[in-house]
Amino acid sequence: MRTEKKTKTSQNRRRTKPITNMLQGLAIAPGIAIGPAFIADIGTAPVPEYSIKAKQVPDECKRFTRCVARSRRQIATLSKKTASLPTETRDEMVNLLDAHRQMLKDSRLVRGVQKRIEKSKTNAESAVAAEVSELVDKFHAMDDPYLAARGAEIRELGNRLLRNLAAALHPLEAGVPEGSIVVAAELTPSDAALLDPKAVTGIASEAGGAEGHAAIMARALDLPTVLGAENLVDTVRPGVTIIVDGDQGLVLIDPSKKQISEYRARQRVQRQDTKRLAKLKRLPARTQDDRDIALHANLELPREIEGAKANGAQGIGLLRTEFMYMNRETLPGEDEQFKMLARFVRGMGNRPVTVRTLDIGGDKMVMPLENEIVPGPNPALGLRALRLSLRTPELLDTQLAAMLRASALGSIRILLPMASTPSDVTTVRAHISRIARRLKRKDVAIADPLPPLGVMIEVPAAALIADALAQVADFFAIGTNDLTMYTLAIDRSDEAVAHLYNPLHPAVLRLIKMATEAALHARIPVSVCGEIAGDPEFTPLLLGLGVRELSMSSSALPRVKDKIRHMALSDAQRLADHLKIQGSPEKVADLLSAFNKAGNKAGNKAS
Ligand code: PEP
Ligand code: MG
Repeated sequence: MRTEKKTKTSQNRRRTKPITNMLQGLAIAPGIAIGPAFIADIGTAPVPEYSIKAKQVPDECKRFTRCVARSRRQIATLSKKTASLPTETRDEMVNLLDAHRQMLKDSRLVRGVQKRIEKSKTNAESAVAAEVSELVDKFHAMDDPYLAARGAEIRELGNRLLRNLAAALHPLEAGVPEGSIVVAAELTPSDAALLDPKAVTGIASEAGGAEGHAAIMARALDLPTVLGAENLVDTVRPGVTIIVDGDQGLVLIDPSKKQISEYRARQRVQRQDTKRLAKLKRLPARTQDDRDIALHANLELPREIEGAKANGAQGIGLLRTEFMYMNRETLPGEDEQFKMLARFVRGMGNRPVTVRTLDIGGDKMVMPLENEIVPGPNPALGLRALRLSLRTPELLDTQLAAMLRASALGSIRILLPMASTPSDVTTVRAHISRIARRLKRKDVAIADPLPPLGVMIEVPAAALIADALAQVADFFAIGTNDLTMYTLAIDRSDEAVAHLYNPLHPAVLRLIKMATEAALHARIPVSVCGEIAGDPEFTPLLLGLGVRELSMSSSALPRVKDKIRHMALSDAQRLADHLKIQGSPEKVADLLSAFNKAGNKAGNKAS
């Protein structure tokens, strides 16, 4: 599959043979999907063929040059990753990538393609296909196994060029047959943004951690999903029936009749439960001891607005704006962003919309910013999120201007990702004031007073100086996904260390407590918008730690509300006080699980 960022190569995925028709992966998005497999890893890209006019030749050559530069960058990124491979594979990979790098310089291949565009007045894709085919034939004709291997290298590189040229023709965009389950080696957030939940019934992939952004997208789409299932792509044939069990993290390949009927029965039970929970929509999220909790939605895509309202969201607690930059070559301008934000603000009526500035980098990469962010040795610690925005003020200012204009239409709050010092906030506030003055001079309507400016508490440094941040920020949103990753030094999107990723680690709980206490003290609102906010098992703990606003993927709202309505805040506070002083994550997990089990029993008796 052509993706905007590959964090794994097929070479460094672990491979063991499965013993049954069941593969164990990570349970990412709940529910059960049964359907034919659509294998989204397409090695070859389509080759549209058309003639161009003489005056279009320079532009077509430029398009090809950009594609060559892009391929070079991709190869540089892949080369860096070879360091972690076993020696034997690494040498093989290094040689292959070196060969590709050489071929992307002023080689016979590159010159040949340019000549074909100029002389035959043909589009870049057909020029690449023709040149590759001619070169491969020549190598094959030499009847030498070494040279035949060179032919295979050229073909592989040709496919990379074609995929990069065909930026708009993604296998997932080309159309997934209705009812399919998308199966991939890796699904990036940009890939997931292309999925049509009306056609796709489930997702399964080999790579990916539970809290990575692909996982978050899958939850946003409310599609049963399993990631991190080893051997998946090698094991599944296109069109074969598979079951994705998003509750237990299982993928069943070519299931027996008995397995299918058992899973269908579970699907029926789940549908009944969904109907029961839907009745809660108009009821408040009120604890047994009469404390109201605000429940908001995290949104990644415009198509989710209706779902957020249908599930009773009181606002948008986190709008991830990255989708505006995905699957396109150019950056979105101020007008385009304003129109998009207006859809959210109008769609949500009077309810607040918390718009986060760009959080690109780490496991999220987008085409138009590939030049800005050269992946360093450790992307999660590199140029990402607010750091990128502050280094590229045009990027930030365009976003802020669009947000200020949208603030005239309803209630907007501006949220900064990965802030770590008070000056992050004061610098952005200065940008906002300057942009507001410029817009006012031009008679452009904006909110008065200006929208509140908040920070994500998602790096340990921010939690540790939450008291200082609370002096300059108007609200906090605790991002437990990154807070856990940075506190425990565990990559949230890496399936190899997924079993170590644990938001219940007492270190994380203590940081959350520090942030809520600082917010309470400064009288500013504080929410949690990491993935644990949508897991009812965590609800008592978060409320006990002082959080009164939770933001989550819309589909999680009814279940969390149900939990809140069956618990007392006073019990939750006692629980959190006890848990945060524990030294071991296992002990915290045991105590929380016991609390939930006891609560469920009491709840079952009462209802
Ligand atoms: C978080 O880190 O918890 C968060 C909500 O932000 P994101 O998942 O987009 O990094
Ligand atoms: Mg984050």
